[in-house]
Amino acid sequence: MDNTYLIRYGEIGLKGKNRPLFERRLMDNISRALNGLGRARVSRVYGRLVVESDIDSALLVESLRKVFGIVWVNPTLRLPLELEAIYSGALRAMRDAAAGLRLPPGEPVTFKVEARRSNKSFPQTSPELNALVGGYLLDHYPGLRVDVHNPDVLVRVEIREKNAFVYAGDVPGIGGLPVGSSGRALLLLSGGIDSPVAGWMAMKRGIEIEAVHFHSFPFTGEKSLEKVRELCRLLAGYTARIRLHVIHFTEIQKEIQLRCPEELRVTLMRRMMFRLAAKVAGQRGALALVTGECVGQVASQTLESLSAISVVTDLPVLRPLVCMDKEEIIERAQLIGTFATSILPYEDCCTLFLPRHPATRPTAAEAARAEEQLALEELLSESLEKTVTEDIKARG
Ligand code: ATP
Ligand code: MG
Repeated sequence: MDNTYLIRYGEIGLKGKNRPLFERRLMDNISRALNGLGRARVSRVYGRLVVESDIDSALLVESLRKVFGIVWVNPTLRLPLELEAIYSGALRAMRDAAAGLRLPPGEPVTFKVEARRSNKSFPQTSPELNALVGGYLLDHYPGLRVDVHNPDVLVRVEIREKNAFVYAGDVPGIGGLPVGSSGRALLLLSGGIDSPVAGWMAMKRGIEIEAVHFHSFPFTGEKSLEKVRELCRLLAGYTARIRLHVIHFTEIQKEIQLRCPEELRVTLMRRMMFRLAAKVAGQRGALALVTGECVGQVASQTLESLSAISVVTDLPVLRPLVCMDKEEIIERAQLIGTFATSILPYEDCCTLFLPRHPATRPTAAEAARAEEQLALEELLSESLEKTVTEDIKARG
């Protein structure tokens, strides 16, 4: 296969005895991300993964940049453990990297060689390799200058068990932990800007996400549902597939509207959402809920509201955006590719039932009193029975 890439990961190197499991997960996730694009083989050398593939290089790098857990992707040469091969590999890597710099003609290129010898049976030490490879490059590449502090090109030589890897030029990955390495959680996914970003951030910490969406058919139509599916498709781009549970919420909203104080409506709807999500989480072995809530954004997101809502479940509620500004959230949404879909105009179920003056300091006791007017368990189980589950794949 034509191209070889060295995959460097960060934190999973720190996980001690769990390390092989994390590496295995990352390898699986990489294979899944490349599935269908061409031939690819993922293997492991100590502390690194190696991808060999005939997939177009730009496409492959773009795909790897959506796999959580990858910190750097390096197009690399896999070479025999021989000095001559390392020299000519370094020269080739140097040429490619310098071409990418687009410096004005005649401008000297500064460089540094950084060798690491983890295979101690290789005769030259790392400092010796630095000097030898550096000297070879100076002799064979006109206009080079050494700069050990701030080089234009960093040529790396890694001496491993069976091969030497030589590369220059780092492509940053998105970091985080491999999805699936931190268990599963249930994302409350509206059609808004915030919750897709919250889901993405949870995934970045290695959490496998399933989504629940509360739908108020016929008040909210097929288009708003399609928008949520599209958001799932976009999130699935980072993990291959997202399971979406669409929960029918209309009856609950109508009952709350009919029987409970108007200013508590939002609190009560949220409490119902959390109860339903917790039940689905129980069925699906999810260990936490994830929401796009953010302190102070709206009346339902004061600390009082958040606590009046959270008490209905024992599950931890992860709120990755809790202290972010809206501008930061929007910037992140643009970066991960969900923003344009999030701002499509279709109504969310909650906006339809919004009170004119929602309570900003509701208490759990007040909410519980209001709920005495509702046939709580019946409403919850009727809603759950109508749940429709679908698996949504990334756009291929
Ligand atoms: P978002 O942009 O995610 O809609 P928001 O700022 O509009 O957030 P709210 O409408 O108060 O905030 O919703 C707070 C959180 O509750 C959302 O981030 C989401 O996690 C959850 N949520 C709200 N509406 C729904 C829904 N229809 N289905 C699933 N979850 C929802
Ligand atoms: Mg919303």
